Amino acid sequence: MAFLVTTQEEMAALGWSELDIILITGDAYVDHPSFGTAVIGRVLEANGFKVGVIAQPDLSNDDDLKRLGRPRLFFGISSGNMDSMVNHYTAQRKMRNNDAYSPDGEIGKRPNRATIIYTNHVKRLFKDVTVVLGGIEASLRRVAHYDFWQDKVRASVLADSKADIIVYGMGERANVEIAQALDAGKSASELQDIRGTVVFASSDDDGSKGVMLPSNVESIDKLNFHKGTQLFWQHHLTEVLYQINGGRLLKHNPPAETLIPAELESVYALPFEREPHPSYEGKTIPAFEQIKSSITSHRGCYGGCNFCTIAAHQGRRISSRSKASILEEATKLAKQHRGKKLTITDVGGPTANMYGSRCKLDWPESCKRRSCLYPAICPNLEYDQQLHLDLLREIEQIPGVGNVFVASGLRHDMAVASSAYIQALATKYAGGRLKLAPEHSETEVLKKMGKPSIDTYMSFSNSFFHCCKKAGLKRQIIPYLIVGHPGANLNSAIAMRKWLIKNRIRVEQVQEFTPTPMTISTSMYYTGLDFETGKPIHVPKPAEVRKQKEIIMWHKKR
Ligand code: SF4
Repeated sequence: MAFLVTTQEEMAALGWSELDIILITGDAYVDHPSFGTAVIGRVLEANGFKVGVIAQPDLSNDDDLKRLGRPRLFFGISSGNMDSMVNHYTAQRKMRNNDAYSPDGEIGKRPNRATIIYTNHVKRLFKDVTVVLGGIEASLRRVAHYDFWQDKVRASVLADSKADIIVYGMGERANVEIAQALDAGKSASELQDIRGTVVFASSDDDGSKGVMLPSNVESIDKLNFHKGTQLFWQHHLTEVLYQINGGRLLKHNPPAETLIPAELESVYALPFEREPHPSYEGKTIPAFEQIKSSITSHRGCYGGCNFCTIAAHQGRRISSRSKASILEEATKLAKQHRGKKLTITDVGGPTANMYGSRCKLDWPESCKRRSCLYPAICPNLEYDQQLHLDLLREIEQIPGVGNVFVASGLRHDMAVASSAYIQALATKYAGGRLKLAPEHSETEVLKKMGKPSIDTYMSFSNSFFHCCKKAGLKRQIIPYLIVGHPGANLNSAIAMRKWLIKNRIRVEQVQEFTPTPMTISTSMYYTGLDFETGKPIHVPKPAEVRKQKEIIMWHKKR
């Protein structure tokens, strides 16, 4: 039994009367490096701390939250791998009927706004205990943000929850730094300058040494919200930002340094069980089933699409694991997989074909671009699709490994640089159905999204099908499309339908734009102002979004 402890009995078996840190999560406890709680728990453990986990606590009584006692240093609270509102509701604000991060996909195992609710309970039960928020919900709600589900601007989750610190982004460094500082006797309010955190500023800090974001969150108008979003994206990498939230001055420190490859490798080498906790025996956790045979090759994405949360959370800079570290993980997976050969379902990251790429200026903080790819690929970006291809080929050679696939997203504007890569995807690694995300066909909408022109997609698609034809294979590209994005209207939907018909494409699914907190697209959705120019743009209302969807999926309607 080498999971992090979850009961008093397990603590007693280790001779522990108290834990240093207790992590509370809205997800089931899966000890796998794709689950944030497991990663932070293992990293803290590797740094000498005693860590316990309370997953999906039952809030109907206090026993569950009290079951591991009071931690010596802090409670780390997260909604889980997803924002709880995105997890619970569709883009039409309808309740979903399953939760991929819960046993047997059962919905309702975490509350709405889980970080706030968990913190309220913990602060009620353990007076003056330190609470550190983490995970995507806290990360994307760390400053005032538009909340689609309430259709209003909400204050930072730090102000709303009364927690002490938010760790945003990939939290390994900041969590360890916080644990070490508290262990050394500092109080939470003294931890003012840790990168990758948001705190309430100390009383001697008036915010004059940083950039002040528009405040008065409760009554902020749309123009000021738009200006605040622009200021945030211009300065958040390099400057300390301030904002008054809930009557207090919030201090947003610049992001933590990205883990260098050796550090990233050491995280993936930690002793994860790579399994759901045994208490879920007989149940399956859908999100785990999906990733259990996949390998993360790198972190980060420099695409910077306007609707995507990765740039605000994980960051743009790519950090890739070495080939040796990935091959070692694949070998371990193959050994664990008794019986027939193991199919590796994915080798990738946020965008698979960014593996091994780098900025030749070493991702300078002075770089003001939000995307290394848009409006055109930056000349300082060094990328070689052969690196990913070589990796896939070497994994295939490992004894016990059968097929290897790529299921992560791909950037077609990068992939078109290598016909060998496209050929390998077409004939082997895409597994018959390649998912690709042009997102729309119309230039004006693609501009609002920060995506490349549809010509690049067509160029990739033509090469892909040419390779399939040559090899005598029948393959598909499944294009991911979004309707309802700010700037899209009925005419652009009709134009996209014409494009689909012309290219004999019938899509089975179309995504409706969801204004998730903190993205640039969400700012455009809320304010009705173009992010770059500040000029008014069309924002489709839900009824029009449904209409756009019907136009794109005309064949379904019939
Ligand atoms: S210089 Fe170019 S490649 Fe480097 S971070 Fe900036 S946009 Fe990206």
